Amino acid sequence: MDTMAVSQTQQAVANIERLAALERYDILDTPAEPAFDRVARLVRLIFDVETSLVTMIDAHRQWYKAALGTPLSQVPVRDSFCQHALLSPRALVVPDATLDPRFSANPHVTAPNGVRFYAGMPLVTEDGQTIGTICAIDRSPRDFSDRETAILEELAQVVMSELELRLLATSDGLTGLATRRAFKAEADKHVALARRHRSQLSVLTFDIDHFKRINDLYGHAGGDMVLKAIAQAAQTGLRKSDLLGRLGGEEFAAVLPDADGPAAMAVAEKLRLAFRMLDFPGSRPPIRVSASFGVATLDPGRDDLESVLLKADEALYEAKRAGRNLTMAWRGTTTATVAEKIDRRRVLKAGRLVFNDRKSVIDCTVRALWERGAEVQVASSADIPEAITLELLSSGNAWDAAIVQRRPNSVELAFR
Ligand code: GH3
Ligand code: MG
Ligand code: MG
Repeated sequence: MDTMAVSQTQQAVANIERLAALERYDILDTPAEPAFDRVARLVRLIFDVETSLVTMIDAHRQWYKAALGTPLSQVPVRDSFCQHALLSPRALVVPDATLDPRFSANPHVTAPNGVRFYAGMPLVTEDGQTIGTICAIDRSPRDFSDRETAILEELAQVVMSELELRLLATSDGLTGLATRRAFKAEADKHVALARRHRSQLSVLTFDIDHFKRINDLYGHAGGDMVLKAIAQAAQTGLRKSDLLGRLGGEEFAAVLPDADGPAAMAVAEKLRLAFRMLDFPGSRPPIRVSASFGVATLDPGRDDLESVLLKADEALYEAKRAGRNLTMAWRGTTTATVAEKIDRRRVLKAGRLVFNDRKSVIDCTVRALWERGAEVQVASSADIPEAITLELLSSGNAWDAAIVQRRPNSVELAFR
Protein backbone atom coordinates (compact mmCIF):
# COMPACT_ATOMS: atom_id res chain seq x y z
CA MET A 1 0.00 0.00 0.00
CA ASP A 2 2.83 2.40 0.83
CA THR A 3 4.28 2.24 -2.63
CA MET A 4 1.03 2.96 -4.40
CA ALA A 5 -1.24 5.88 -3.77
CA VAL A 6 -4.95 5.13 -3.58
CA SER A 7 -6.92 7.66 -5.55
CA GLN A 8 -10.03 9.38 -4.32
CA THR A 9 -12.20 7.42 -6.74
CA GLN A 10 -10.64 4.14 -5.63
CA GLN A 11 -11.39 5.05 -2.02
CA ALA A 12 -14.99 5.80 -2.91
CA VAL A 13 -15.30 2.43 -4.66
CA ALA A 14 -13.65 0.62 -1.76
CA ASN A 15 -15.61 2.33 1.00
CA ILE A 16 -16.70 -0.39 3.44
CA GLU A 17 -20.03 1.18 4.44
CA ARG A 18 -20.87 1.63 0.77
CA LEU A 19 -20.18 -2.04 0.03
CA ALA A 20 -22.18 -3.10 3.10
CA ALA A 21 -25.14 -1.03 1.86
CA LEU A 22 -24.89 -2.68 -1.55
CA GLU A 23 -24.76 -6.11 0.09
CA ARG A 24 -28.01 -5.40 1.98
CA TYR A 25 -29.95 -5.18 -1.28
CA ASP A 26 -28.59 -8.56 -2.39
CA ILE A 27 -28.99 -7.61 -6.01
CA LEU A 28 -25.65 -8.42 -7.64
CA ASP A 29 -25.93 -11.19 -10.24
CA THR A 30 -29.70 -11.42 -9.96
CA PRO A 31 -31.76 -11.85 -13.14
CA ALA A 32 -33.21 -9.01 -15.17
CA GLU A 33 -36.46 -7.64 -13.73
CA PRO A 34 -39.14 -5.77 -15.68
CA ALA A 35 -39.21 -2.74 -13.37
CA PHE A 36 -35.54 -1.97 -13.95
CA ASP A 37 -35.72 -2.77 -17.67
CA ARG A 38 -38.56 -0.27 -17.93
CA VAL A 39 -36.50 2.49 -16.36
CA ALA A 40 -33.68 1.75 -18.80
CA ARG A 41 -36.17 2.00 -21.68
CA LEU A 42 -37.46 5.31 -20.33
CA VAL A 43 -33.95 6.73 -20.16
CA ARG A 44 -33.41 5.86 -23.79
CA LEU A 45 -36.75 7.24 -24.92
CA ILE A 46 -36.67 10.46 -22.92
CA PHE A 47 -33.09 11.47 -23.66
CA ASP A 48 -32.87 9.85 -27.08
CA VAL A 49 -29.51 8.21 -26.34
CA GLU A 50 -28.10 4.93 -27.63
CA THR A 51 -27.22 3.37 -24.33
CA SER A 52 -28.90 3.36 -20.95
CA LEU A 53 -27.80 1.54 -17.83
CA VAL A 54 -28.92 0.80 -14.30
CA THR A 55 -25.76 -0.31 -12.54
CA MET A 56 -24.44 -1.49 -9.22
CA ILE A 57 -20.85 -0.75 -8.31
CA ASP A 58 -19.06 -3.64 -6.65
CA ALA A 59 -15.49 -3.35 -5.39
CA HIS A 60 -13.97 -4.56 -8.65
CA ARG A 61 -16.71 -4.28 -11.27
CA GLN A 62 -19.65 -2.28 -12.38
CA TRP A 63 -22.50 -4.70 -12.85
CA TYR A 64 -25.57 -3.92 -14.96
CA LYS A 65 -28.98 -4.65 -13.50
CA ALA A 66 -30.51 -3.30 -16.70
CA ALA A 67 -28.73 -2.36 -19.91
CA LEU A 68 -29.85 -1.26 -23.35
CA GLY A 69 -27.56 -0.58 -26.27
CA THR A 70 -24.64 -2.65 -25.02
CA PRO A 71 -23.97 -6.39 -25.15
CA LEU A 72 -22.00 -6.22 -21.89
CA SER A 73 -23.35 -7.23 -18.50
CA GLN A 74 -20.48 -5.85 -16.44
CA VAL A 75 -17.20 -3.96 -16.85
CA PRO A 76 -14.14 -3.58 -14.62
CA VAL A 77 -14.74 -0.61 -12.34
CA ARG A 78 -11.30 0.81 -13.05
CA ASP A 79 -12.19 2.31 -16.44
CA SER A 80 -15.83 3.04 -15.70
CA PHE A 81 -17.26 6.54 -15.89
CA CYS A 82 -19.59 5.70 -13.07
CA GLN A 83 -16.90 5.45 -10.42
CA HIS A 84 -16.63 9.21 -10.71
CA ALA A 85 -20.33 9.51 -10.02
CA LEU A 86 -19.64 8.03 -6.56
CA LEU A 87 -17.85 11.19 -5.55
CA SER A 88 -20.89 13.42 -5.80
CA PRO A 89 -24.55 13.15 -4.80
CA ARG A 90 -25.53 15.10 -7.93
CA ALA A 91 -25.62 14.00 -11.53
CA LEU A 92 -22.32 13.79 -13.37
CA VAL A 93 -22.73 15.24 -16.86
CA VAL A 94 -19.98 14.97 -19.46
CA PRO A 95 -21.14 16.67 -22.69
CA ASP A 96 -18.07 15.63 -24.65
CA ALA A 97 -15.69 13.13 -23.06
CA THR A 98 -12.91 13.87 -25.53
CA LEU A 99 -12.73 17.40 -24.09
CA ASP A 100 -12.81 16.34 -20.44
CA PRO A 101 -9.38 15.67 -18.91
CA ARG A 102 -10.89 13.06 -16.57
CA PHE A 103 -12.10 10.94 -19.46
CA SER A 104 -10.27 11.87 -22.65
CA ALA A 105 -7.75 9.02 -22.24
CA ASN A 106 -10.35 6.51 -21.04
CA PRO A 107 -10.36 3.36 -23.22
CA HIS A 108 -14.15 3.60 -23.65
CA VAL A 109 -13.56 7.06 -25.13
CA THR A 110 -10.48 6.41 -27.24
CA ALA A 111 -11.97 3.25 -28.77
CA PRO A 112 -13.26 3.61 -32.33
CA ASN A 113 -16.78 5.00 -32.13
CA GLY A 114 -16.17 5.52 -28.42
CA VAL A 115 -18.24 7.25 -25.76
CA ARG A 116 -18.69 11.01 -26.17
CA PHE A 117 -21.65 11.88 -23.98
CA TYR A 118 -22.31 10.62 -20.45
CA ALA A 119 -24.88 11.61 -17.86
CA GLY A 120 -24.93 9.53 -14.67
CA MET A 121 -26.96 9.96 -11.53
CA PRO A 122 -25.85 8.12 -8.41
CA LEU A 123 -28.27 5.72 -6.72
CA VAL A 124 -28.13 6.80 -3.10
CA THR A 125 -29.61 4.87 -0.17
CA GLU A 126 -31.56 6.53 2.63
CA ASP A 127 -28.46 6.50 4.78
CA GLY A 128 -26.49 8.29 2.11
CA GLN A 129 -24.50 5.47 0.53
CA THR A 130 -24.08 5.41 -3.24
CA ILE A 131 -24.52 1.86 -4.47
CA GLY A 132 -24.81 2.37 -8.20
CA THR A 133 -25.84 4.67 -10.98
CA ILE A 134 -28.44 5.24 -13.64
CA CYS A 135 -26.95 6.62 -16.80
CA ALA A 136 -27.47 7.80 -20.33
CA ILE A 137 -24.60 7.37 -22.81
CA ASP A 138 -24.10 8.27 -26.44
CA ARG A 139 -21.44 8.23 -29.14
CA SER A 140 -22.23 11.81 -30.13
CA PRO A 141 -21.53 14.82 -27.94
CA ARG A 142 -24.58 16.63 -26.66
CA ASP A 143 -25.90 18.99 -24.02
CA PHE A 144 -27.99 18.06 -21.05
CA SER A 145 -30.36 20.68 -19.70
CA ASP A 146 -31.24 21.31 -16.07
CA ARG A 147 -34.66 19.92 -16.83
CA GLU A 148 -33.13 16.71 -18.19
CA THR A 149 -30.89 16.46 -15.15
CA ALA A 150 -33.96 16.81 -12.94
CA ILE A 151 -35.68 13.98 -14.85
CA LEU A 152 -32.64 11.72 -14.45
CA GLU A 153 -32.66 12.46 -10.71
CA GLU A 154 -36.33 11.50 -10.49
CA LEU A 155 -35.64 8.26 -12.37
CA ALA A 156 -32.86 7.47 -9.90
CA GLN A 157 -35.46 7.84 -7.13
CA VAL A 158 -37.74 5.42 -9.01
CA VAL A 159 -34.92 2.88 -9.10
CA MET A 160 -34.26 3.30 -5.39
CA SER A 161 -37.98 2.81 -4.61
CA GLU A 162 -37.95 -0.35 -6.71
CA LEU A 163 -34.91 -1.59 -4.81
CA GLU A 164 -36.71 -1.00 -1.53
CA LEU A 165 -39.82 -2.82 -2.80
CA ARG A 166 -37.67 -5.66 -4.00
CA LEU A 167 -36.47 -6.25 -0.45
CA LEU A 168 -40.06 -7.13 0.39
CA ALA A 169 -40.70 -9.41 -2.61
CA THR A 170 -40.51 -13.12 -1.89
CA SER A 171 -41.24 -14.63 -5.27
CA ASP A 172 -39.51 -14.26 -8.59
CA GLY A 173 -41.69 -12.62 -11.25
CA LEU A 174 -40.75 -15.01 -14.07
CA THR A 175 -40.80 -18.42 -12.44
CA GLY A 176 -42.83 -17.81 -9.29
CA LEU A 177 -40.08 -19.47 -7.26
CA ALA A 178 -38.62 -17.99 -4.08
CA THR A 179 -36.20 -15.13 -4.71
CA ARG A 180 -32.64 -15.52 -3.52
CA ARG A 181 -33.34 -13.48 -0.40
CA ALA A 182 -36.56 -15.34 0.40
CA PHE A 183 -34.89 -18.68 -0.29
CA LYS A 184 -32.02 -17.92 2.06
CA ALA A 185 -34.28 -16.68 4.83
CA GLU A 186 -36.44 -19.81 4.63
CA ALA A 187 -33.46 -22.14 4.14
CA ASP A 188 -31.78 -20.69 7.23
CA LYS A 189 -34.75 -21.86 9.28
CA HIS A 190 -34.55 -25.37 7.84
CA VAL A 191 -30.84 -25.47 8.65
CA ALA A 192 -31.41 -24.25 12.20
CA LEU A 193 -34.03 -26.97 12.74
CA ALA A 194 -31.79 -29.67 11.31
CA ARG A 195 -28.94 -28.58 13.54
CA ARG A 196 -31.15 -28.48 16.63
CA HIS A 197 -32.68 -31.91 16.01
CA ARG A 198 -29.54 -33.36 14.49
CA SER A 199 -31.66 -34.43 11.54
CA GLN A 200 -30.44 -34.91 8.00
CA LEU A 201 -30.58 -32.09 5.53
CA SER A 202 -29.16 -31.89 2.04
CA VAL A 203 -29.03 -29.14 -0.52
CA LEU A 204 -28.73 -29.29 -4.25
CA THR A 205 -27.84 -26.52 -6.63
CA PHE A 206 -28.24 -26.66 -10.38
CA ASP A 207 -27.38 -24.46 -13.30
CA ILE A 208 -28.70 -24.79 -16.83
CA ASP A 209 -26.04 -25.89 -19.31
CA HIS A 210 -25.05 -23.54 -22.11
CA PHE A 211 -28.05 -21.35 -21.41
CA LYS A 212 -26.45 -18.52 -23.33
CA ARG A 213 -26.75 -20.61 -26.48
CA ILE A 214 -30.47 -21.07 -25.85
CA ASN A 215 -30.87 -17.30 -25.62
CA ASP A 216 -28.76 -16.83 -28.72
CA LEU A 217 -30.66 -19.40 -30.74
CA TYR A 218 -34.22 -18.81 -29.60
CA GLY A 219 -34.13 -15.25 -28.27
CA HIS A 220 -34.64 -13.94 -24.76
CA ALA A 221 -38.32 -14.96 -24.83
CA GLY A 222 -37.25 -18.51 -25.71
CA GLY A 223 -34.81 -18.46 -22.79
CA ASP A 224 -37.55 -17.25 -20.46
CA MET A 225 -39.83 -20.05 -21.60
CA VAL A 226 -37.10 -22.59 -20.78
CA LEU A 227 -36.58 -21.04 -17.34
CA LYS A 228 -40.28 -21.33 -16.56
CA ALA A 229 -40.38 -24.94 -17.75
CA ILE A 230 -37.32 -25.84 -15.68
CA ALA A 231 -38.79 -24.19 -12.59
CA GLN A 232 -42.07 -26.04 -13.10
CA ALA A 233 -40.36 -29.40 -13.67
CA ALA A 234 -38.17 -28.95 -10.60
CA GLN A 235 -41.14 -28.02 -8.45
CA THR A 236 -43.04 -31.07 -9.70
CA GLY A 237 -40.13 -33.37 -8.97
CA LEU A 238 -39.65 -32.16 -5.39
CA ARG A 239 -41.72 -32.81 -2.28
CA LYS A 240 -44.04 -30.20 -0.85
CA SER A 241 -41.78 -29.90 2.18
CA ASP A 242 -38.72 -29.14 0.03
CA LEU A 243 -37.72 -25.57 -0.65
CA LEU A 244 -36.83 -24.39 -4.15
CA GLY A 245 -35.45 -21.01 -5.13
CA ARG A 246 -34.03 -19.14 -8.10
CA LEU A 247 -30.68 -17.84 -6.94
CA GLY A 248 -29.59 -16.11 -10.13
CA GLY A 249 -30.29 -16.03 -13.86
CA GLU A 250 -30.30 -19.75 -14.60
CA GLU A 251 -29.11 -20.96 -11.21
CA PHE A 252 -31.41 -22.65 -8.76
CA ALA A 253 -31.11 -24.31 -5.36
CA ALA A 254 -33.22 -26.64 -3.29
CA VAL A 255 -33.15 -27.58 0.38
CA LEU A 256 -34.24 -31.14 1.11
CA PRO A 257 -35.08 -31.61 4.79
CA ASP A 258 -34.69 -35.16 6.09
CA ALA A 259 -32.67 -36.24 3.04
CA ASP A 260 -29.26 -37.84 3.42
CA GLY A 261 -26.62 -37.78 0.69
CA PRO A 262 -27.80 -40.78 -1.35
CA ALA A 263 -31.44 -39.63 -1.16
CA ALA A 264 -30.47 -36.15 -2.35
CA MET A 265 -28.39 -37.63 -5.18
CA ALA A 266 -31.43 -39.63 -6.27
CA VAL A 267 -33.59 -36.50 -6.26
CA ALA A 268 -31.03 -34.58 -8.27
CA GLU A 269 -30.78 -37.37 -10.81
CA LYS A 270 -34.56 -37.48 -11.09
CA LEU A 271 -34.66 -33.75 -11.83
CA ARG A 272 -31.76 -33.98 -14.25
CA LEU A 273 -33.55 -36.67 -16.25
CA ALA A 274 -36.86 -34.77 -16.08
CA PHE A 275 -35.14 -31.73 -17.62
CA ARG A 276 -33.85 -33.89 -20.46
CA MET A 277 -37.42 -34.98 -21.18
CA LEU A 278 -38.73 -31.42 -21.52
CA ASP A 279 -39.89 -30.60 -24.99
CA PHE A 280 -41.00 -27.33 -26.43
CA PRO A 281 -43.47 -27.96 -29.25
CA GLY A 282 -42.96 -25.65 -32.20
CA SER A 283 -39.32 -24.79 -31.44
CA ARG A 284 -37.11 -25.26 -34.45
CA PRO A 285 -34.58 -26.77 -34.20
CA PRO A 286 -36.19 -28.50 -31.18
CA ILE A 287 -34.97 -27.03 -27.88
CA ARG A 288 -33.10 -29.53 -25.72
CA VAL A 289 -32.13 -28.56 -22.20
CA SER A 290 -29.87 -30.00 -19.58
CA ALA A 291 -28.52 -28.86 -16.26
CA SER A 292 -25.56 -29.70 -14.03
CA PHE A 293 -26.15 -30.51 -10.37
CA GLY A 294 -24.17 -30.30 -7.16
CA VAL A 295 -25.26 -32.04 -3.96
CA ALA A 296 -24.05 -31.56 -0.39
CA THR A 297 -25.28 -32.73 2.98
CA LEU A 298 -25.28 -30.59 6.10
CA ASP A 299 -22.68 -31.38 8.72
CA PRO A 300 -24.86 -30.30 11.65
CA GLY A 301 -21.98 -29.55 13.98
CA ARG A 302 -20.17 -27.34 11.54
CA ASP A 303 -22.14 -26.17 8.54
CA ASP A 304 -24.38 -23.19 8.20
CA LEU A 305 -26.43 -22.51 5.09
CA GLU A 306 -23.63 -20.61 3.41
CA SER A 307 -21.08 -23.35 3.86
CA VAL A 308 -23.35 -26.15 2.71
CA LEU A 309 -24.37 -24.13 -0.36
CA LEU A 310 -20.70 -23.48 -1.01
CA LYS A 311 -20.05 -27.21 -0.95
CA ALA A 312 -22.93 -27.93 -3.33
CA ASP A 313 -21.65 -25.23 -5.64
CA GLU A 314 -18.20 -26.73 -5.60
CA ALA A 315 -19.69 -30.05 -6.68
CA LEU A 316 -21.77 -28.31 -9.34
CA TYR A 317 -18.69 -26.68 -10.71
CA GLU A 318 -17.03 -30.09 -10.93
CA ALA A 319 -20.05 -31.40 -12.83
CA LYS A 320 -19.61 -28.55 -15.32
CA ARG A 321 -15.94 -29.30 -15.71
CA ALA A 322 -16.61 -32.98 -16.18
CA GLY A 323 -18.78 -32.25 -19.21
CA ARG A 324 -22.20 -30.97 -17.93
CA ASN A 325 -25.56 -32.74 -17.74
CA LEU A 326 -24.19 -34.52 -14.65
CA THR A 327 -24.82 -34.73 -10.91
CA MET A 328 -21.87 -34.59 -8.53
CA ALA A 329 -21.75 -34.91 -4.77
CA TRP A 330 -19.40 -32.78 -2.72
CA ARG A 331 -16.41 -35.00 -2.06
CA GLY A 332 -15.08 -33.69 1.20
CA THR A 333 -11.97 -31.61 1.27
CA THR A 334 -10.90 -30.29 -2.06
CA THR A 335 -8.40 -27.53 -1.67
CA ALA A 336 -8.64 -26.49 1.97
CA THR A 337 -9.57 -28.53 5.03
CA VAL A 338 -13.21 -28.65 6.06
CA ALA A 339 -12.47 -26.91 9.33
CA GLU A 340 -10.77 -24.08 7.57
CA LYS A 341 -13.65 -23.74 5.14
CA ILE A 342 -16.12 -23.38 7.94
CA ASP A 343 -13.87 -20.85 9.62
CA ARG A 344 -13.90 -18.66 6.60
CA ARG A 345 -15.18 -15.28 7.50
CA ARG A 346 -17.51 -13.90 4.89
CA VAL A 347 -16.31 -10.42 4.15
CA LEU A 348 -16.85 -7.85 1.50
CA LYS A 349 -13.72 -5.85 1.00
CA ALA A 350 -12.10 -4.09 -1.88
CA GLY A 351 -8.65 -5.36 -2.71
CA ARG A 352 -6.21 -5.82 -5.49
CA LEU A 353 -3.95 -8.49 -6.82
CA VAL A 354 -0.47 -7.23 -7.55
CA PHE A 355 2.14 -9.08 -9.62
CA ASN A 356 4.78 -8.69 -12.28
CA ASP A 357 7.10 -6.60 -10.05
CA ARG A 358 4.12 -4.39 -9.09
CA LYS A 359 3.64 -3.45 -12.72
CA SER A 360 0.33 -5.30 -12.96
CA VAL A 361 -2.67 -4.69 -10.74
CA ILE A 362 -6.09 -6.33 -10.91
CA ASP A 363 -8.97 -5.03 -8.81
CA CYS A 364 -10.83 -7.61 -6.79
CA THR A 365 -13.57 -8.06 -4.23
CA VAL A 366 -12.55 -10.18 -1.25
CA ARG A 367 -15.51 -12.41 -0.40
CA ALA A 368 -13.97 -14.60 2.26
CA LEU A 369 -10.90 -14.25 4.40
CA TRP A 370 -9.34 -16.69 6.82
CA GLU A 371 -6.05 -17.18 8.56
CA ARG A 372 -4.29 -18.84 5.68
CA GLY A 373 -6.17 -17.77 2.63
CA ALA A 374 -8.85 -15.80 0.87
CA GLU A 375 -11.44 -16.10 -1.83
CA VAL A 376 -11.59 -13.15 -4.18
CA GLN A 377 -13.74 -12.23 -7.14
CA VAL A 378 -12.25 -10.73 -10.27
CA ALA A 379 -13.55 -9.65 -13.66
CA SER A 380 -11.53 -12.48 -15.21
CA SER A 381 -9.06 -14.89 -13.64
CA ALA A 382 -7.43 -15.69 -16.98
CA ASP A 383 -4.40 -13.39 -16.75
CA ILE A 384 -3.56 -13.88 -13.10
CA PRO A 385 -0.28 -15.76 -12.50
CA GLU A 386 0.12 -18.47 -9.86
CA ALA A 387 2.02 -16.25 -7.41
CA ILE A 388 0.66 -12.82 -6.51
CA THR A 389 0.26 -10.36 -3.64
CA LEU A 390 -3.18 -9.61 -2.24
CA GLU A 391 -3.64 -6.12 -0.82
CA LEU A 392 -6.66 -4.86 1.10
CA LEU A 393 -7.42 -1.25 0.30
CA SER A 394 -9.09 -0.47 3.63
CA SER A 395 -6.37 -1.69 6.00
CA GLY A 396 -3.35 -1.76 3.77
CA ASN A 397 -2.71 -5.38 4.81
CA ALA A 398 -0.88 -7.43 2.21
CA TRP A 399 -0.19 -11.14 1.78
CA ASP A 400 1.96 -13.02 -0.67
CA ALA A 401 -0.19 -15.82 -1.94
CA ALA A 402 -0.51 -18.67 -4.40
CA ILE A 403 -3.59 -19.61 -6.37
CA VAL A 404 -5.02 -22.93 -5.25
CA GLN A 405 -8.24 -22.84 -7.22
CA ARG A 406 -9.20 -20.87 -10.26
CA ARG A 407 -12.70 -20.24 -11.58
CA PRO A 408 -13.60 -17.88 -14.42
CA ASN A 409 -14.55 -15.03 -12.07
CA SER A 410 -12.89 -15.95 -8.79
CA VAL A 411 -9.73 -17.41 -7.34
CA GLU A 412 -8.94 -19.04 -4.04
CA LEU A 413 -5.64 -18.02 -2.51
CA ALA A 414 -3.36 -19.71 0.01
CA PHE A 415 -1.17 -17.27 1.91
CA ARG A 416 2.50 -18.05 2.15
P1 GH3 B 1 -22.66 -23.02 -18.44
O1 GH3 B 1 -23.03 -24.34 -19.04
O2 GH3 B 1 -21.22 -22.94 -18.13
O3 GH3 B 1 -23.52 -22.73 -17.24
O4 GH3 B 1 -22.95 -21.92 -19.56
P2 GH3 B 1 -24.12 -20.86 -19.59
O5 GH3 B 1 -24.18 -20.29 -20.96
O6 GH3 B 1 -25.39 -21.46 -19.08
O7 GH3 B 1 -23.69 -19.86 -18.48
P3 GH3 B 1 -23.49 -18.29 -18.41
O8 GH3 B 1 -23.48 -17.99 -16.94
O9 GH3 B 1 -22.32 -17.89 -19.22
O10 GH3 B 1 -24.77 -17.66 -19.09
C1 GH3 B 1 -25.97 -17.50 -18.42
C2 GH3 B 1 -26.88 -16.67 -19.28
O11 GH3 B 1 -28.19 -16.59 -18.74
C3 GH3 B 1 -26.41 -15.25 -19.43
C4 GH3 B 1 -27.67 -14.41 -19.29
O12 GH3 B 1 -27.83 -13.55 -20.36
C5 GH3 B 1 -28.79 -15.42 -19.24
N1 GH3 B 1 -29.89 -15.01 -18.39
C6 GH3 B 1 -29.81 -14.65 -17.09
N2 GH3 B 1 -31.04 -14.37 -16.61
C7 GH3 B 1 -31.92 -14.55 -17.62
C8 GH3 B 1 -33.35 -14.40 -17.74
O13 GH3 B 1 -34.06 -14.04 -16.80
N3 GH3 B 1 -33.91 -14.71 -18.95
C9 GH3 B 1 -33.15 -15.12 -20.02
N4 GH3 B 1 -33.76 -15.39 -21.17
N5 GH3 B 1 -31.81 -15.24 -19.93
C10 GH3 B 1 -31.20 -14.97 -18.76
MG1 MG C 1 -24.78 -19.73 -14.41
MG1 MG D 1 -25.43 -22.04 -17.05
